[in-house]
Amino acid sequence: MDLKYVQTTCPYCGTGCSFNLVVKDGKVVGTQPYKRSPVNEGKVCPKGTYAHEFVNSPDRLTKPLIKKDGKFVEATWDEAYDLIAQKFKSYKPDEFAALSSARVSNEENYLMMKFARGVMKSRHIDHCARLCHASTVAGLAASFGSGAMTNSILDIAESKCIFVLGSNTLEQHPLIGRKIVQAKQDGAKVICADPRYTPTARLADLYMPFVSGTDVALLNGLMQEIIKNGWEDKEFIEKRTKDYEKLKEVVMKEDYSLENVSKVTGIPADQIKQAAEIFGTTKPGAILYSMGITQHTVGVDNVRSVANIQMLTGNLGKPGAGVNALRGQNNVQGACDMGALPVVFTGYQKVIDPAAHKKFADAWGFPDGICEPKNGYEVTVMMDVLTDNPGELKCMYIMGENPMISDPDINHVRHALESLEFLVVQDIFMTETSELADVVLPAACYAERDGTQTSTERRVQMWRKAQDPPGEAKEDWQIISELAAKMGYADQFPYQNMEEIFNEVAELTPSYHGMNYERLNKPEALHWPCPTVEHPGTPILHKEKFSHPDGIGIFAPIEWKPPAEVPDAEYPFVLTTGRILWHWHTGTMTRRSATLDSEVPTGWIEINPDDAKALGIQNKEMVRATTRRGTVNVPAKVTPDIMKGVMFMPFHFAECAANILTNNALDPIAKIPEFKACAVKVEKITEA
Ligand code: SF4
Repeated sequence: MDLKYVQTTCPYCGTGCSFNLVVKDGKVVGTQPYKRSPVNEGKVCPKGTYAHEFVNSPDRLTKPLIKKDGKFVEATWDEAYDLIAQKFKSYKPDEFAALSSARVSNEENYLMMKFARGVMKSRHIDHCARLCHASTVAGLAASFGSGAMTNSILDIAESKCIFVLGSNTLEQHPLIGRKIVQAKQDGAKVICADPRYTPTARLADLYMPFVSGTDVALLNGLMQEIIKNGWEDKEFIEKRTKDYEKLKEVVMKEDYSLENVSKVTGIPADQIKQAAEIFGTTKPGAILYSMGITQHTVGVDNVRSVANIQMLTGNLGKPGAGVNALRGQNNVQGACDMGALPVVFTGYQKVIDPAAHKKFADAWGFPDGICEPKNGYEVTVMMDVLTDNPGELKCMYIMGENPMISDPDINHVRHALESLEFLVVQDIFMTETSELADVVLPAACYAERDGTQTSTERRVQMWRKAQDPPGEAKEDWQIISELAAKMGYADQFPYQNMEEIFNEVAELTPSYHGMNYERLNKPEALHWPCPTVEHPGTPILHKEKFSHPDGIGIFAPIEWKPPAEVPDAEYPFVLTTGRILWHWHTGTMTRRSATLDSEVPTGWIEINPDDAKALGIQNKEMVRATTRRGTVNVPAKVTPDIMKGVMFMPFHFAECAANILTNNALDPIAKIPEFKACAVKVEKITEA
């Protein structure tokens, strides 16, 4: 028997835990702790523990598939490439759009970006960061000059006060949650604001249930109380920031008095006062946030308000402090870093900047040039263009994403994707999205490739190949490179392995410039920015100055605005959505993991006992949830853990898909949809 252990990085959340894959006779059969990782020190959550179970699922795609007369038939790679190349060449540049993936490596995101902008000359490339932290990238870049988590994961344990807002850290980033537990054991105070009494809320010294979508009101109220009591960091404000007076003008308004904020948020005034005192007087203080902050039509406003309170209290650029935006997917930070966004090349170099555009055009050497120096469409805008402006977008290439479960208003997404003339989907399993494709390409999973991914704390870590892909499946970088070669661009895609691609990324990307596989090939890896090969990496951003050209942080005066859709007589409850400990996003991988799927085999809607009583609904009863966009039958979970007037659904489950109900209203800057608040009605299902 041949047995080996291959250390790699978890393919699920943005924490970036490491573990060993156990490989028996060439096949992945289990996971084992890898204790040298400073991130997780050998511990993993249930998803990490069972991350081997889907790898050799009989459902894996093993051959290219071409749809003929409405049915998929197996094809050779040459047949699939020939068809795709012929079709892709028939479209004008901006009739093509690409969706890259937060699941695949940095190298492969870079190649998809190069394919869209170089081979297809299209402006339109995006990925699912649009759905989770697009508002973080835009909001923190506006406040600090850099749109990423400011501190490191290890650093959270150094904090003396942790304010968790819009994050169920213990379930969604469990090994970051462990750092909150460690900080608390060392005496830190924990404050949590959430409409649900989550495991993270249970850990808090002060838990404040509040109405989804009222974050800015709460933060402005806290800032007013901090300023009134003189707890602001005057020296930090004076030396490191600008526009403080503009902020003060807004937050000191009567609208943000304790009484008024209490009315808007539903939090008792004395709790807001107590939270302001704890956070204003206990240093260093960290804020941890996730999609409860970002997934709103005011997502950028929410993020800028978080940045405001941390500049106000001087909680930046030091250990135990910071704006800790917890990114969702394993490589969503990296996919953004690699320029899989419609406005930037790698390292956030702007497409509309003539110097950056020329730099990439020159480096890539496409004889017929690259895309125009113009911004492209965000994925949410692509869907609207497809339905509202037929014929503008005609062809799409989706790698490792499943918008038919992950995106808001699924009926709208179906309509959009069905209106495409030609759709190619590249994935490891058949998904609700690939069912709509004209060609499906079988890809390798995380255990079948080398490469790098960048975790939420900007730590760039290695994946290592443990087994061969099943059947004829190939690594994404090989597929993209071979397709580019079929289209006449072999010289621009000459790669033999991932390392060659990474070296090209490092060459073109200032924040990755000092990285190479030799330096990354150790347990602690490296945090960006890492500008030179001598540079040790940067676990904490903004120590001496912010990333704006003048080094100064910018306060933003933000007024609270309600969600796009609020409850009314017809739809009287707020619906909010999210993830659970046992499953991951669209369930493509976790629902094919026997252990995870047996723990939680289907979805539910959480209803407060008072609301359930008023509606005559019993626990576990099937109910009908309806919004202006659709209806879903779903089991009720009657629980005091959700506040009255608010209901919650996890979005992983196709058979009761929460995103049939959600609102695709967008933040005007980040174009992120409002997954966290829409108006819903829930009824008993009565027999006909
Ligand atoms: Fe994987 Fe995240 Fe769990 Fe760590 S916390 S094992 S990265 S899912």
